[in-house]
Amino acid sequence: MALIVQKYGGTSVGSVDRIKNVAKRVKAWTDAGHQVVVAVSAMSGETNRLLGLAKDITSAPSERELDMVVSTGEQVTIGLLSMALHEIGQDAMSLTGWQAGMKTDTVHAKARIEAIEADRINTALSNGKVVIVAGFQGINEQGDITTLGRGGSDTTAVALAAALKADECQIYTDVDGVYTTDPRVEPKARKMDLITFEEMLEMASQGAKVLQIRSVEFASKYSVPLRVLSSLEDIRSFDEPGGTLICSEELFEEKNMEQPLISGIAFNRDEAKITINGVPDKPGIAYTILGQVADSNIEVDMIIQNTGHDDTTDFTFTVHRNDYQKTMDIVKPLAESMGAREISGDESIVKVSLVGVGMRSHAGIASQMFSALADESINIQMISTSEIKVSVVIAEKYLELAVRTLHKSFNLESE
Ligand code: ADP
Ligand code: ASP
Ligand code: MG
Repeated sequence: MALIVQKYGGTSVGSVDRIKNVAKRVKAWTDAGHQVVVAVSAMSGETNRLLGLAKDITSAPSERELDMVVSTGEQVTIGLLSMALHEIGQDAMSLTGWQAGMKTDTVHAKARIEAIEADRINTALSNGKVVIVAGFQGINEQGDITTLGRGGSDTTAVALAAALKADECQIYTDVDGVYTTDPRVEPKARKMDLITFEEMLEMASQGAKVLQIRSVEFASKYSVPLRVLSSLEDIRSFDEPGGTLICSEELFEEKNMEQPLISGIAFNRDEAKITINGVPDKPGIAYTILGQVADSNIEVDMIIQNTGHDDTTDFTFTVHRNDYQKTMDIVKPLAESMGAREISGDESIVKVSLVGVGMRSHAGIASQMFSALADESINIQMISTSEIKVSVVIAEKYLELAVRTLHKSFNLESE
């Protein structure tokens, strides 16, 4: 008998029929002799709808109240799934984040899980129940509801698996695994059977939303076997459930898999670019601009400062699109007070990244990438590299073309 944590995302619980199907799948696992803890998301579109309601009231809601509102979507699905299980003769109990002992820090909208007091879950499990936990939510030390950031139910599931020492954490979604790139953008993308934590973390960090970044960090830190698989397909086998297993480098090598040069292409449509032209080229400029941005809790991703000429320089950086206006409001008066020539912004950019641990030991990946993009006349606006990724910022209208071009250029469709 294994203990399995399963997570079902928005599409997987997007209708009453889908919830009934999830119930059947969960029951099949318990019938096969396993204990199951389930984490669920809100029905697809529901979290956005709730955010929209708040926005119709105010453009600057209290973060505490916003979490109060957006966390409700998950409360509906846990109750419905529990009822669906009762209907087919499986004992089950739903728990909200606080009932499940999901303790977080106090940062609303992107809280971190600090501990899980799992007594109630354990008691229910030992009484033969399936336990269904609301994803995405927790409770802070003041007793207030917090949420874990968009896509946070993945992290709920992995944290539960770590705390309960589960044998596996299965993330059920609307694709049957992790692909070399988003199969919605490149239908020729190839499903991977295995990917290392490190590569998955980089893919998620660069925008592959199939898993929330923190869920991968958590799984890596606590060595939780993590699998992504489809909720829309029949169960293949309880011993070999298929999908994509995210695993340690050791296991990867044990399976005699050769590390590919490039494991995938990720992209991020959520960024915006701000450029300040003609700022004085003197010490402290980057700090003056970015220090204030950071003090406002705005995360800066890419940064470029050009070589100065005529005692001035140009400075460009990217932030999340949601933070664009707020950042402009901070930076505009600063730029003016510094005597900058011009400040401009662009919200129609995307970041496309090549990811692969194999590139550590190979030169020429970046130049192949730039040449492939140049052949399609795609202009590169910004570049950043790390040991295992190369990212470029390009105009949004070229996203699909860029992804498909790179996918082909790096031969990702074939094994
Ligand atoms: P859920 O609601 O189940 O959490 P998400 O929409 O968050 O589902 O994640 C699944 C989606 O992630 C897929 O439908 C797919 O479009 C997208 N995706 C992006 N990159 C990848 C990738 N490399 N492999 C698989 N899916 C990806
Ligand atoms: N419902 C939340 C969201 O839409 C959390 C999740 O689905 O993982 O972001
Ligand atoms: Mg998701």
